[in-house]
Amino acid sequence: MSEFEVYALCYGRRTGFRGEHFLGHGPDSAEPHPTAYYVWLAVSPEHTVLVDAGIRASRAREIPGLDYVEPGRLLAELGAVPDIVVLTHLHYDHCGTVADFPGARFVVQQSEVDYWTGPWAKRIERERWLLDEVALDHVLAGPLDLVDGDAEVVPGLSVHLVGGHTAGMQVVRVGTAAGPVVLASDAAHFHENLENDHPAPLLHSMTGVYGAFDRVRELAGAGPVVPGHDPEVLGRYPPAGERIVRISASSGS
Ligand SMILES: [Zn+2]
Repeated sequence: MSEFEVYALCYGRRTGFRGEHFLGHGPDSAEPHPTAYYVWLAVSPEHTVLVDAGIRASRAREIPGLDYVEPGRLLAELGAVPDIVVLTHLHYDHCGTVADFPGARFVVQQSEVDYWTGPWAKRIERERWLLDEVALDHVLAGPLDLVDGDAEVVPGLSVHLVGGHTAGMQVVRVGTAAGPVVLASDAAHFHENLENDHPAPLLHSMTGVYGAFDRVRELAGAGPVVPGHDPEVLGRYPPAGERIVRISASSGS
């Protein structure tokens, strides 16, 4: 089995509110809560796999207070040219720059594509803004590898349908020299979501989110789970650039 080096690349930072990230109104819901935006990179001798593609630059400029660099610039720092782009889900902040990777093969769950091309996403107000239609069209133009459930993308790297956050949310399990790493993306926005069994408010299915927590824990075993938006990721792993850390199965928890 191939072993990968795994990196988290932080292309954005912003301060939101706790209520945006933890479901239910509490006395601390209005407190400021820093959030970070990532793409992840898994590199083996055979493959360079990008996990998620961040926010498109023109859209990032519309987000107040977002400290943004184009994900492609961070990839260039590592000299990475992905041949595969796994999209954990099709929210605007996870698929926005797909046009920057011509020739790469996209890997998305069938149920995720069905949802965003079907009637509900266009009808439900609180869903519509989460879609980047330009990016979606690009994904659909392919080359697109639609998967259904769990699948090995290449030896040592697999995707797993967990749902919950979106209809076809998938997480990525990557084999490293020190054991498996699970890139949870928005199946757990913050370590705290998973550790306290406390979902984020943006969700497709409430029970699905709890089921996704369970599946992520099961896939990770004793290895680390890397959440989708937690600034703490940058402090938990060794730096590999100003906004880049190297995820190591031995230094996480
Ligand atoms: Zn999301």
